[in-house]
Amino acid sequence: MRKLWINGQEVDGSEGTQVAIDPATEEIIAEYAWGGTAEADQAVAVAKAAFDGWRRTPAGTRAEMLHEIARRMRQEQESLAVDLTRETGRALRKNRGYVEWSAQCFDYYAELGRHSRGRVIPSPEASQLSLVLKVPLGVVAAIVPWNYPLLLLVWKLAPALAAGNTVVIKPATYTSWVTLGFARLFDHLPPGVVNIVAGSGRLVGDHLVRHPDVRMVAFTGSTEVGQHIMRMAADDMKHIHLELGGKDPLIICADSDLEAACRAAVWGGFLNAGQVCTSVERVYVERVVFRDVLDRVKALAEGLVVGPGMDPRSEVTPMIRPEERDKVHQQVISAQQSGALIVTGGRKPASQPRGYFYEPTVLTGVSEDMLVMREETFGPVLPVIAVDDFDEALRRSNQSQYGLGATLFTNDARKVKQYMEQIEAGNVWVNDPIVDNLAGPFGGMKRSGIGRELGEEGFEEFLETKHVHWEIEPGIKPWWYPWE
Ligand code: NAD
Repeated sequence: MRKLWINGQEVDGSEGTQVAIDPATEEIIAEYAWGGTAEADQAVAVAKAAFDGWRRTPAGTRAEMLHEIARRMRQEQESLAVDLTRETGRALRKNRGYVEWSAQCFDYYAELGRHSRGRVIPSPEASQLSLVLKVPLGVVAAIVPWNYPLLLLVWKLAPALAAGNTVVIKPATYTSWVTLGFARLFDHLPPGVVNIVAGSGRLVGDHLVRHPDVRMVAFTGSTEVGQHIMRMAADDMKHIHLELGGKDPLIICADSDLEAACRAAVWGGFLNAGQVCTSVERVYVERVVFRDVLDRVKALAEGLVVGPGMDPRSEVTPMIRPEERDKVHQQVISAQQSGALIVTGGRKPASQPRGYFYEPTVLTGVSEDMLVMREETFGPVLPVIAVDDFDEALRRSNQSQYGLGATLFTNDARKVKQYMEQIEAGNVWVNDPIVDNLAGPFGGMKRSGIGRELGEEGFEEFLETKHVHWEIEPGIKPWWYPWE
């Protein structure tokens, strides 16, 4: 049984135990400890106690410890990937890639941390020295969702540690077992620097966010919980970093490579069964090529292999839980009842009687007021919409409360320029959706979040700025009292 990880030790949970479930088979995989507020308090206390030692550890030594995490990830790539597939349902081959990518993220931030520096700035007088220092914040609570339990954790953990902070991790309920298993990657770090407390969001998550000794909350998850966290964090003026939901549009212009655009749309819509924050959720197509695009998308969707992540042939893997599938199905049915057409899919696949699978689903005839066009759809559903021209597609792309990612397919440089300037999204892709770059800041506008992960921006989030004004030749200044 996997236990909580606090102060470099395995700890039982005061709330008993929970079981991990394989979404492909509906079977129980394992049992793990379930914590509560007592363990959250304990973890924050040890993280606070470890902070001073960790921030004073020379950056080069910290960097070597982070590289060691990357080495361990590579060494354990297969077992980590298998664990991830068992608890998330995701394709094993993708998980192998995510483990390697997570290792690269630690290597990247190890070096960024080693080379981090402040500035010496011009002083008002010659006898003074003005320094801009970058200092760590203290204890960071990292609250993570279930769809990428390793990768999205690493995007927080690697920069937070490289910057000199200590961390308490709160995994998502559905993926706590796999996350508790990551403790073995961190057991060479000083005790208390990394802690993992599995527990419910409302109990442990809330408690961490409200805890006075937590200085920053780095959160990825739904917009609803993000808003709740922002409100809670206001009392202590905590730093917050919020990566939230999306409703990403993809525009296909008539001048683009249509086969590439259709394949990209289908991949972007159905990857990880659509349970990706930046999955493609609206496809706007110029009317002159609409019929052609819809036929291609339908054929591609119907050709996808739906199956368990452990089977190397599977292209669309299960959803995480039946209730998540029901939510998505409700959106599809509600759209249909309001006049949308289900081009393909819209039900559980007959080929998979067990597991939480949902057929890759293509919709058309949707309107902007339907739930499936307004709210995030965290499942394999792709609405395809005809528009008169690029300007209409761009306008409708921006008609959303979200602004996470957006993609344009075109070969027209003028359209690309207009798109870059006017699209309301933090991640903008041209002819190649959902690519992330360790050096490139990732995050959302509008209700998709605040702050950026990855790149130098993702490191800065975990630092605070201090301006030091130092008079080197102490004496009485003429502007002090008494005034002459
Ligand atoms: P969620 O918001 O339900 O949960 C996320 C985390 O918050 C979990 O660890 C959960 O236990 C915790 N939590 C829940 N209630 C809490 C509370 N009251 N206080 C503190 N913590 C609490 O999200 P989810 O269902 O795990 O993940 C899916 C969502 O995440 C989708 O909306 C998706 O778009 C979003 N997401 C965003 C990004 C991004 O980078 N923008 C990436 C992946 C997922």
